[in-house]
Amino acid sequence: MLFSFVLLECSFMKFDYTSTYTGLISTVCAYFLFRRVPYLAVARTFEKIEEDSGRLRNIETLSNLFRSVIALSPEDLLCCVYLCLNQLGPAYLGLELGVGETVLMKAVAQATGRQLDKIKAEAAEKGDLGLVAESSRSNQRIMFQPASLTAVGVFNKLKDIGNMSGNSAMNKKIDIIKGLFVACRFSEARYIVRSLAGKLRIGLAEQSVLAALSQAVCLTPPGQEFPPAVIDAGKGMSAEKQKSWIEEKSLILKQTYCEMPSYDVILPVLLKEGIDELPRHCKLTPGIPLRPMLAHPTKGVGEVMKRFDEAAFTCEYKYDGERAQIHILENGEVRIFSRNQEDNTTKYPDIISRIPTVITLSVVSCVLDAEAVAWDREKKQIQPFQVLTTRKRKDVDAADVKVQVCVYAFDLLYLNGESLVKQTLSRRRALLKESFQEKEGEFVFARAIDSNDTDAIAEFLEQSVRDSCEGLMVKTLEKDATYEIAKRSHNWLKLKKDYLDGVGDTMDLCVIGAYLGKGKRTGMYGGFLLACYDEDNEEFQSVCKVTVVFALGNPLNIH
Ligand code: ATP
Repeated sequence: MLFSFVLLECSFMKFDYTSTYTGLISTVCAYFLFRRVPYLAVARTFEKIEEDSGRLRNIETLSNLFRSVIALSPEDLLCCVYLCLNQLGPAYLGLELGVGETVLMKAVAQATGRQLDKIKAEAAEKGDLGLVAESSRSNQRIMFQPASLTAVGVFNKLKDIGNMSGNSAMNKKIDIIKGLFVACRFSEARYIVRSLAGKLRIGLAEQSVLAALSQAVCLTPPGQEFPPAVIDAGKGMSAEKQKSWIEEKSLILKQTYCEMPSYDVILPVLLKEGIDELPRHCKLTPGIPLRPMLAHPTKGVGEVMKRFDEAAFTCEYKYDGERAQIHILENGEVRIFSRNQEDNTTKYPDIISRIPTVITLSVVSCVLDAEAVAWDREKKQIQPFQVLTTRKRKDVDAADVKVQVCVYAFDLLYLNGESLVKQTLSRRRALLKESFQEKEGEFVFARAIDSNDTDAIAEFLEQSVRDSCEGLMVKTLEKDATYEIAKRSHNWLKLKKDYLDGVGDTMDLCVIGAYLGKGKRTGMYGGFLLACYDEDNEEFQSVCKVTVVFALGNPLNIH
């Protein structure tokens, strides 16, 4: 075993395994000796990505890591993907690391024998506790070097930390973090700390991870015996051909991910059946939230008419509440998800209990897109969004609900075993109306007019604002009217009262505070607290926080 560690170290010294072919081979050898993916391979990949700002180069670097993993330790691919995304599981399960800076600083101090004050001061100066942990690590003196970290080992420990709660959790978390730190080599401590803090700071977006994953499975197909016969399936192809081939496959993976946003489900199919088979095995499933379709902003009715030209469209009220993706499962269970796929089921027991009263007998399972809006039962009117925010977020008891909500349904994405996302909106809307019945103040279809008369639309917009809505959502009905998951589509336009030409207003605000910047903003102010002057009380009242954006490469500097 010791021998393999030595060889592993040597191979890391000799080769840059995050670059192309030679790198892949050296990683292959290293992994073969190690069997599980070393966390160092992940950390080195992060380092390389952090140093380079080129998106395509970073996708290639990441895909090289994934190719090695696919060839040697395919069972580790899932944890490697989650480590790159800094997630503990699918977003909809809501698993969070939740380790505060203070706990992390304590753990760094205890693991390295340094004083907490010094760690704090250095973190403020460097703006990154990860770098502090990495440089502090060299101060350690230990008798025996602990076993090297593996990707799966680190991932499991992060999961353990994420699952801990209660009074004694803090000390237990510190113990686990200390255990990880003493085994850290090179830049591993930097990325472990950043993972725990919730930000990897390497600028890797989920779309890049998906692109790297597709590139990896195209070039080094999964399911091969070891040693793999095909390490580079793109060899001999022209660069252009290879690019369009990978892009075509990448689209399959991205679309599948939109319908089934769970790597737990997708990766085993990808490894066993291949990328082409994904749509057959991973489909929209009630119980698993899909990413919602979003709208493009427009400045006025004129712009809407210009964009939609001849296409038939509908204008719906744009309700000001919280998006509610309501899933009705075959077993009768109802689940509700937010715009960001958080599980809001326990927030809305009142919505759940009313579903049986509004659903028609023909519905076995379905996924509804809707807006939950605060509703005043006595006055029978919509209440502002701010009222909805006062509602408890979790484990609400139906008997204690003080802020009532009305569900405004505007789309149907799945019905009785069939995905409807490829159907037109007019078909989806017809099915929505056949499948549900309205109940005043509880479940209502979004108010809409299907008209292309400019005056009628302008009047409907004004009416929507009078009815306490934000404006209108304008959507194509027939042509280009599919439900575009996770897209900010031009087929949905939002016409908010705040955006309208001539409606905007200006305010004179004054800076009353500033926040020290972190990361790239270290040594500068990262944000400002603004206030307006209240002449009656002769005092400044805070209004909002603004974040500093680098203007012309010349940010505001503290010094
Ligand atoms: P965006 O969601 O477009 O990023 P945002 O978070 O500021 O921007 P809005 O600009 O308020 O949201 O517009 C989109 C949201 O409007 C949707 O996510 C949905 O929750 C809400 N909405 C209200 N009425 C409708 C409707 N009839 N059709 C679609 N969405 C609606």
